[in-house]
Amino acid sequence: MALLEEPIKEVSLIKNFIDGEWVEFKGEVKDIVNPATGKTIARVPISTKGEIDAAVEAAKAAFPDWRRTTPLARSRILFRLKELLEENFEELSRIQTQEHGKTIDESRGESRRGIENVEVACGIPTLMQGYYSEDVASGIDEWVIPTPLGVFGIIAPFNFPFMIPLWSAPYAVATGNCIVIKPSSEVPLSQTRLTELVEEAGFPPGVWNVVHGGRTVVDGMLDHPDIVGITFVGSTPTGRDVIYRRCGETGKRVIAQCGAKNFLTVMPDCDVERTIAAMMTSFFGNTGQRCLSAANCVVVGEDDGFYNSFMEKVTAVASKIKVGYGLDESVQMGPLRDKEKKEKVIRYIESGIKEGAKLRLDGRKNMKIVSDYPDTCFLGPTIFENVTPDMKIGSEEIFGPVMSVMRVKDLDEAIELANANPFGNGHSIFTTSGKSAREFQYNITSGNVGINIGVTAPMAFFPFSGMKDSFFGVLHTQGREAIRFFTESKVIIQRWF
Ligand code: NAD
Repeated sequence: MALLEEPIKEVSLIKNFIDGEWVEFKGEVKDIVNPATGKTIARVPISTKGEIDAAVEAAKAAFPDWRRTTPLARSRILFRLKELLEENFEELSRIQTQEHGKTIDESRGESRRGIENVEVACGIPTLMQGYYSEDVASGIDEWVIPTPLGVFGIIAPFNFPFMIPLWSAPYAVATGNCIVIKPSSEVPLSQTRLTELVEEAGFPPGVWNVVHGGRTVVDGMLDHPDIVGITFVGSTPTGRDVIYRRCGETGKRVIAQCGAKNFLTVMPDCDVERTIAAMMTSFFGNTGQRCLSAANCVVVGEDDGFYNSFMEKVTAVASKIKVGYGLDESVQMGPLRDKEKKEKVIRYIESGIKEGAKLRLDGRKNMKIVSDYPDTCFLGPTIFENVTPDMKIGSEEIFGPVMSVMRVKDLDEAIELANANPFGNGHSIFTTSGKSAREFQYNITSGNVGINIGVTAPMAFFPFSGMKDSFFGVLHTQGREAIRFFTESKVIIQRWF
C-alpha cells in the first residue's frame, strides 16, 4: 500500500520558544531519526542552563498580567487553540508517526486525546470557581478562591510526544500560571508544530515556553527557585529518584507519573473473541511502548482445554500483525522508537529464554514485515509461556511488544500475583461475571483498572492515575485534579461588622 505523504520533508534545526520568540540554539544538537526509515528528520538542541533560565524569567514576567486576564478570556485563547489543532489534526498525527514510529491510527488517537485535554480546560470559568459559606460565626463569612501559583515545569517522555504535555499544559495556563515545557529530546517535532499553533492562538509572550534538551534542562528546572511545581511523566528511576526526591528537597509541588508492569487477567468465562482483540491492542499497540500496555497475561483456571485453545487463537492472531512504517495505513504495528530500545527488548527476550520460559512466538524471526526498510527498529509480536513472577520478563518493565503468559488456579491468586509486583499502573480483567469484576476492581492495587478494557486510559476529564512505583505525588494530570494541582486554595475569612 502507498505511504501517506510525510509532512516533515527537510532536516531543520528545531528552535526553543522563549518569551514568544523562536530562539536559535548555537550549542550541541542531536539528530532525530525516523525509526521506520532510518533517515534523519531534524536536529534538536541540547539546551543549557542559560536557555532554561531565560524561559523561566520570561514566564515569571508574564505571570502577573496573565493571572489578571479573566478566565473567560483565557478560555477563548484555548478555544482558538482547539480550533487550530482540529484544522491541523492530520498533519500533527503524521508528524508523530514520523518522529516516533507509531501507526497513523495510533497517532490520530493520540492527537484526539491531546485535543480533548484542551477542550476540558476550556471550561475553566466554571472549573476554577471557589466556594462560599455565609455566617460561619456571627457576622463572619468565609470563602475559598483557587489561585494560580506562578511558573510550572512540564517534563515529558518519548512515547506520546504530542499528547502527554497536554495532560498538564492546558490546565496550567487556563488557571493563570505560566509554563516551561521540556519535551523528550527523542521526539521534539510534534511539540514544535503544536507550539506554532500555540503562538497563532494568541497566548501572550512568556505564558507558554518550550526548551528542548535533556538532563541539564531538567536540572535547571529542579534547581530554579522561581519554578513552583513540576509535572513529570516518564520512567520510575527518573520520576522517583530524581524528580520526586528533588522536588521534595526544594519544596516544589510535584506530580510524577512513572513506569509500569501491567497484568491482564483472563477468566475462563470471558468473551474470547473480544478479549483477544483487546489483547492485541493492549500488548502490541504502540509497539508495547505505553505505560498502559499489558505485559503479563494471567490465565485463570486449571482447564487445559480452555488454555490451549485460547493460546492457539492468541498466537494465530498475533502472528498475523502487519509490521511496518506507520504511514502505510495497512500497517498494524510500527517499529520501536530507536535501535537501543530494540536491543533492550531483545535482551529481555534472551533473558526469558535463559530463565526457562517457553518462547511460543519469536518476534525476532517471525515478523510479518511490510516495510521497505526491514533493518531499522522493527520487532514482531513475541509471546512467552510458563513465565513466573521471579523472571525478569515477568517482573520488570520491558516496554516492547512482548507478552508473558502465566497460569494461576483462581482469581484470588491472579490478584495476589499482580499486587505483589511493585508497579500499579493499569491492570485489567476480562470476564462476563459481575462478581469477578467487582472482586478484581476492589482488591487490585492499580491506579487505572480495566474491566473488559485492555488499555485503561482515562478520558481527559478523569485523572490519569497510578499506584505504588507507578506514581509519586498526590494529585494527577488531567481534568479536575490537574486544576487542583495548578492552583492553591486561598481561604478568606471576613467579619462584616
Ligand atoms: P525517561 O524517564 O527516560 O525520560 C522522561 C523525561 O525525563 C525525558 O524528558 C528525559 O529527558 C528526562 N530524563 C531522563 N533521565 C533523566 C535524568 N536522569 N535526570 C533528569 N531528567 C531525565 O522516560 P522515557 O523513556 O522517555 O519514557 C518511558 C517511560 O515513561 C516508561 O517507563 C513509561 O512507563 C513511562 N510513562 C509513564 C506514564 C504514566 O502516566 N505513568 C505515561 C507514559 C510513559
